[in-house]
Amino acid sequence: LVSRKKKPEDTIIEINGKKIGAGEPTFIFGPCSVESYEQTAQVAASIKAKGLKFIRGGAYKPRTSPYDFQGLGLEGLKILKRVSEEYGLAVVTEIVTPGHIEEALDYVDVIQIGARNMQNFELLKAVGETDKPVLLKRGLAATIDEFILAAEYIMSRGNENIMLCERGIRTYERATRNTLDISAVPILKQETHLPVFVDVTHSTGRRDLLLPCAKAAIAIGADGVMAEVHPDPSVALSDSQQQMDLQQFDEFYEELLKFMKQY
Ligand code: PEP
Ligand code: MN
Repeated sequence: LVSRKKKPEDTIIEINGKKIGAGEPTFIFGPCSVESYEQTAQVAASIKAKGLKFIRGGAYKPRTSPYDFQGLGLEGLKILKRVSEEYGLAVVTEIVTPGHIEEALDYVDVIQIGARNMQNFELLKAVGETDKPVLLKRGLAATIDEFILAAEYIMSRGNENIMLCERGIRTYERATRNTLDISAVPILKQETHLPVFVDVTHSTGRRDLLLPCAKAAIAIGADGVMAEVHPDPSVALSDSQQQMDLQQFDEFYEELLKFMKQY
């Protein structure tokens, strides 16, 4: 069902007045984790000032260590909802179990399925039963075929509002946190009719690579870019090494816009 052979025209998903996959890139920025109302609202104000329409932030965090911050859960969803209403932004947030879906439906505009859950087939089937847009991230070591089949799990249950997100894969290279598989973007665009995003934060794990990789994503035809922004990354409860602060975010976005105008 997700195959281009089945449906030759691009899938366009309209959320919060923005047509995703219709040509103009879509930007999803926000903190790694929702930590407090103030922290989330500060990032939201900066996103809104740029005229953007989405905020991301994790309330349920799938952390490598059980001793690391696990997210605020339902309280985090409530903060996201309040911020989304105050700043006019659509909320993109991850859920990690089918048990979260019912509460998420009330608080969330786009359900994110994270890399660690790309092959959580019961979760894929459960979000497939809803009509909420889904942002599906590529698994840490998933092939493109496996990624496409994960999207097929969702669509086979009836939900056609799926966005794919390349977020880097695990290789032997240690200069970056993961290896951004940039060629996955045109392959996914050829093989499927779904919008394709690139998460430049989790793929590189390096602030100095966010801008060049975002440019590469847009140049190669991605429908959107995701990146993490925190008012003070040094005290962030997750991913403190790789999030941009608000000033870096301003510069990043300004440079990206300049680059896009060249096309
Ligand atoms: C995230 O986007 O918050 C996240 C945890 O990313 P990934 O699932 O790609 O590791
Ligand atoms: Mn993160």
